[in-house]
Amino acid sequence: MNATSPIEQSRHGQDALTVAQAQTLIRQAITPINAVENVTLYGALDRILAADIISPIHVPAHDNAAMDGYALRGADLAVAGETRLHIIGQAYAGHRHEGVIGKEQCIAVTTGAIMPDDCDTVVPHELVQQTADIIAIPTDVIKTGDNRRRTGEDLTAGAPALRAGRRLKPADLGLLASLGIASVPVRRKLRVAFFSTGDELRSLGETLDPGNIYDSNRYTLFGMLTRLGCELIDMGVVKDNPATLEHTLQQACEQADVILTSGGVSVGAADHTREIMAKLGDVAFWKIAMRPGRPLAFGSIAMQNKRVFLFGLPGNPVATMVSFYFFARPALLQMMGATDEPLPLLRARSETAMRKKPGRTEYQRGILSLAADGAPCVRITGAQGSGILRSMSEANCMIVLPHESGNVDVGDEVSVIVFDGLV
Ligand code: AMP
Ligand code: MG
Repeated sequence: MNATSPIEQSRHGQDALTVAQAQTLIRQAITPINAVENVTLYGALDRILAADIISPIHVPAHDNAAMDGYALRGADLAVAGETRLHIIGQAYAGHRHEGVIGKEQCIAVTTGAIMPDDCDTVVPHELVQQTADIIAIPTDVIKTGDNRRRTGEDLTAGAPALRAGRRLKPADLGLLASLGIASVPVRRKLRVAFFSTGDELRSLGETLDPGNIYDSNRYTLFGMLTRLGCELIDMGVVKDNPATLEHTLQQACEQADVILTSGGVSVGAADHTREIMAKLGDVAFWKIAMRPGRPLAFGSIAMQNKRVFLFGLPGNPVATMVSFYFFARPALLQMMGATDEPLPLLRARSETAMRKKPGRTEYQRGILSLAADGAPCVRITGAQGSGILRSMSEANCMIVLPHESGNVDVGDEVSVIVFDGLV
């Protein structure tokens, strides 16, 4: 980042940045890590694919039966009245029927059996009457081509099956296996160093003196970073002491691709985080027009030919999480080489009235459910203070009130981002 970088320009701005502006500045500054490693499928879940995967084969490799039943020649189906066919053999999945299937003949097949060359249609068992080696098919229950899976209908040889940048899901592992691919190139895991700052913080197992609180941010960060598939470097709690902070940042810089801290980034904070971050690197301290999560530090620290990105998240526990999700998460995915997949915004009817000033984005913690009429509806999880972590814990979604919007009345539609998905 040089003197004319967007970060540098925004550093001097008096006004708060909008969420979208901050996201854009971060996106422009981030560069992905390029290192690639090969992993077997069992190690590939949630990893970022480093190259396009081209299908080496057709899937399926042959036309095959989509149902248990009888493979027949569509031309034999009677235009009116019942069709009677002779069963002359069978083809079960994995076994090909050898020999010709002539006029008014059929063979018994199971799902997945290769379609004989002479046949183009499968009639399911339950639609026919079988007597000895004759089946009777009522009129109009099937037509030519029914219940036949075509060669390559899933994947065609030579076509891209999965694109580089994809975060591999369970279905992708199955898809790769269906192509006979046992290992894939993925980006190496991102190394993330994280620590909490504050004299008042105590680690678990320590006793709390008056004014002390337990450090919770390190645990929410641990959870969020683990979900993203990062390699974690836990640097503990760092006191508001310039020398310790500088030493910790330097150590983090040696080991990590990116550093996440919480606390000490707001204006007038009685600590030294801002000062040391600014001394060690090109770090901007932003005011962002949002709630919760107004202060955010972003930039990089350069050391021994290495540039490590740094996010200084606000200390209030909900603000830490919200800032992580809307600023750090997309940036980490970008560093991991993942293609941008914006989180889907759903619309839901608000059961709660919410006071909201235009001119900032608000993230309320919500509980999404279905109303009696089946429509999605959402209510907030009680008190929404940025220190009330219970609001996050009880929520199953975040209600996003956009920058320009005003008060929300009961019954108004709002946008929500759901926390957990099926996959
Ligand atoms: P700060 O941004 O350092 O001024 O912190 C803002 C508020 O968040 C203060 O009330 C801190 O005590 C609290 N806080 C900061 N870091 C943590 C943490 N790691 N765990 C829990 N609370 C924190
Ligand atoms: Mg602090």
